[in-house]
Amino acid sequence: MSSQRSFSFELFPPRTPEATAKLPGVIRELAAVRPNYFSVTYGAGGSNQDGTYETLLTVVEHCGIEAAPHLTCVGSTRENIAALLQRYRDAGIRRIVALRGDLPATAMSPAAPGDFHYAIELVRFIRELHGDAFQIEVAAYPEMHPQASNPTADFERFREKVEAGADGALTQLFYNADAYFAFMERCAKAGITIPIMPGIMPITGFANTVRFCAGCGADLPRWVRLRLEELQNDKTALQDFGAEVVTRLCETLLRNGAPGLHFYTINQAGPTLRLWKNLDLPVGQ
Ligand code: FAD
Repeated sequence: MSSQRSFSFELFPPRTPEATAKLPGVIRELAAVRPNYFSVTYGAGGSNQDGTYETLLTVVEHCGIEAAPHLTCVGSTRENIAALLQRYRDAGIRRIVALRGDLPATAMSPAAPGDFHYAIELVRFIRELHGDAFQIEVAAYPEMHPQASNPTADFERFREKVEAGADGALTQLFYNADAYFAFMERCAKAGITIPIMPGIMPITGFANTVRFCAGCGADLPRWVRLRLEELQNDKTALQDFGAEVVTRLCETLLRNGAPGLHFYTINQAGPTLRLWKNLDLPVGQ
C-alpha cells in the first residue's frame, strides 16, 4: 500500500470443517485490497497454537501478505513460548501481537496462570530472546481494560508495555471516537509516540454487538443500541445502519489523525470490505 497509514485485518482460527473450507476464499477476498498485514488470534474462543499457525500459513499461501500471530500468557511456560517464537522466526514471521489473553470468567486474579502473568512480561521475553527481530504490537484500551482498578492505573500499565519495547498498539473495539482521542492526548502528554491503531468491529447484528461491547467494557451509544434493537429483525436495514455508523466513526478517526485502522473481520469479508469501499480506501499496491 502506498500510503503511510496501516490497515490490518484480524482473523481467528476456524473452529469447524466448514469454516476451515471457507477461510481461503475469505482471505483472498480481503487480500484483494492489499492490507498491510493479517493478524491471527490465539486462545480466544478456545483456539490453540496449531490453529493459529495453520491459519497464518493459509494467509501466506493464499495471498503472500504478512501474517502476525497473537501470543498470550495464559497457561504458557518459558519453554513453550521460546519454542513458539523460534518456530515463528524460522517461518519468516516478523510481527507479533503480545497479550495477556482472556482469562476464564471464574478467575480470581488479573494475573494469567503460567510463567507469564501480564503482556509486559511477554514483550520483555521476546526482546530478551530475539532483540528487534520482531515488531511487537500490544493492546490498548481507550475506555479502560474492564479488570483495571482505575483509568490512571490502566494507562500506567500501558505506558510500561510501551517502555518495555512495544512498537505499536491495537485498541480494543470502541464506538465512541472521543474515547480514542482522549486516550491519544494522554499518550502525547506522556511522551508515547508509537502508532496506536483503532480496533474497528463492523456492526453485523444487534445481539452480537451488545455482547461484544459488554464483554470488553465498550460503550455502545444509547441511540445506536436503540436503533439496532429496533432493526434486529430486518437484517438488511440493520446492516445498512451499522455500516453507516461505523463508516462515520472511521472517517472521524482518520480525518483527525488516526494512523490507520485494525479491522476485527470475524472471518467475514463482506462487512469489512463494505467499510473499506465506503471510506474510499486505496485498493491494490
Ligand atoms: P495486560 O496489558 O497484561 O493487562 C491486563 C490487565 O492487567 C489490565 O487490567 C491491566 O491494567 C492489568 N495489569 C497489567 N500489568 C499489571 C501488573 N503488573 N500488575 C497488576 N495489574 C496489571 N485475547 C486472547 O485470548 N487471544 C487473542 O488472540 C486476543 N487478541 C486480542 C487482540 C486485540 C487487538 C485486543 C485489544 C485484545 C485481544 N485479546 C485476545 C483480548 C485480551 O487478551 C484481553 O483484553 C485481556 O484481558 C488483556 O490483555 P492485555 O494484553 O491487554 O493485558
